[in-house]
Amino acid sequence: MTNEMVLKFKALSENEVFARVCVAAFLLPLDPKVTDMADIKTAVSEAVTNAIIHGYDGSEGEVELRCRYEDNNVYIEVGDKGCGIEDIQLAKKPLYTTKPELERSGMGFTVMEAFMDEVEVVSEKEKGTTVKMIKRLKL
Ligand code: ATP
Ligand code: MG
Repeated sequence: MTNEMVLKFKALSENEVFARVCVAAFLLPLDPKVTDMADIKTAVSEAVTNAIIHGYDGSEGEVELRCRYEDNNVYIEVGDKGCGIEDIQLAKKPLYTTKPELERSGMGFTVMEAFMDEVEVVSEKEKGTTVKMIKRLKL
C-alpha cells in the first residue's frame, strides 16, 4: 500500500496541532500501533515547532509538510524557507538551544531521533531547513 500527501500552512503556532492531527489522519489506513502513532505525532510536532519558532522566528512564512508511506515505512519531511541552521551537528546536540530565554530545553532533535528510525537534517543559512524522518511501523 502506498500513499502520499503535501500540506502547506502558515508559520503560526496554532498550526502545530493542525499538522500533527493531519499526519495522524493520513496514517490511519495503515492502522498503526498506538505507540508508533504517538511517536510520529511527537516528532512532527517538534519539527513543525522548530520551523515556526526558529526558522521564521515570528516573521511570515510557510511550512511544507510531506508525508508518504510504502507498506509499513512512513516518510515525513518538514521544510521551511527560514533562517537555516549554521552548524547542524551542534544544533542536534541534547540541551543545545539558541532560545534559552523562551524556556526551550534544546531537546527537539533528540526527541525526533529517539522516536523515529532515521532523522536527516538538510539546511542552508538564509535558505531554510528540511527535516527528513523515517518511521518503520511495527506490524
Ligand atoms: P526544544 O525543542 O526542546 O523546545 P529547541 O527547539 O531549542 O528546544 P531543538 O529542537 O533540539 O531545541 O533545536 C536545537 C536548535 O537548532 C534550536 O535552538 C535552533 O537554534 C536550531 N534549529 C532547529 N530547527 C531549526 C529550523 N527549522 N530553522 C532554524 N534553526 C533551527
Ligand atoms: Mg525544538
